[in-house]
Amino acid sequence: MNVRTVGTMGKILVIDDDLIITDMLKMILEENHTVLCTHDAIDGLSLARAEQPDLILLDVSMPGVDGYELCRILKTDQETKNTPIIFITANASPEDETEGLEAGAVDYITKPINPSIVKIRVGIHMELKKQRDSIDELSTLDPLTGLFSRRWFDHFLDQELRRNTRTRTPVSVILIDIDNFKTYNDNYGHIAGDECLRLVAKKLQEVPRRGGDLVARYGGEVFAVILPNTPYESLLFMTEKFRLAINKAGISHPFSDVSNSVTVSAGAATVIPNNLLSPDALVQEVEEMLYEAKRKGRNRACIRENYG
Ligand code: GH3
Ligand code: MG
Repeated sequence: MNVRTVGTMGKILVIDDDLIITDMLKMILEENHTVLCTHDAIDGLSLARAEQPDLILLDVSMPGVDGYELCRILKTDQETKNTPIIFITANASPEDETEGLEAGAVDYITKPINPSIVKIRVGIHMELKKQRDSIDELSTLDPLTGLFSRRWFDHFLDQELRRNTRTRTPVSVILIDIDNFKTYNDNYGHIAGDECLRLVAKKLQEVPRRGGDLVARYGGEVFAVILPNTPYESLLFMTEKFRLAINKAGISHPFSDVSNSVTVSAGAATVIPNNLLSPDALVQEVEEMLYEAKRKGRNRACIRENYG
């Protein structure tokens, strides 16, 4: 293994068994990018997962797992499937190019390497990646679960606090976090973990009955709910409904130290907002309630009445 990190803007992973090529690419690209290099395909796969590069430059012919095979693996792996891959190859026959593009690569760079072409090609794909990342960030829906995104949650909470300030009505917020989810991933793998997140999301989404209620994926294995015009007593009832919906789903999790199936902890607060209350302060209060639920043993909810 040989890993070197240089530079700052955007991260590129170079996988090539030829030391001269990796050194050359590093030299060409490190002025504008962080460049990681490895000479081994298997090591390249784990680096791609762990480092989440913006772009991978991948040699076609390597001993053991060749570039095409590695490309197919990267394109089916949950954690790397969206990372663009450019092939570096000495044999750019139309058949080779077709095979590479079919394996999921976005482009080809041919050996001997021409520094200007490499810079331009890499520059184009880094720019495209940046644009795609910002589109993802702006999107309303979380791609994994189909719930509203964190960004939309922030937007909606801000709006609801303003609206309920005018009407002097209460807003309730819940954060719901899967208990011992790390051990679920560690034992069943990330693909099963993702499936579990989808199922939890589906069960949570089925709980609210009112049109104005919003369920979002707040991040990772944390979900967030906004219940407009909902006072404390209704919040107690609703938070329990969310928690019990996951208990009832009976998603097997023998590695949990709370139960044999997946459970969640919840923090919640209700507030009659005023002009001085910021969305961030409310979310922080709800997070503190969530930590308290975790501290008290998980699979429970802690709720703050009339915060603010
Ligand atoms: P606690 O009961 O205190 O909440 O413990 P925990 O294990 O649930 O919490 P921790 O923060 O230690 O681990 C959260 C795990 O969630 C780690 C991370 O790998 C996993 N995770 C976050 N996002 C995703 C995702 O999108 N997919 C998958 N499969 N796992 C995710
Ligand atoms: Mg958790």
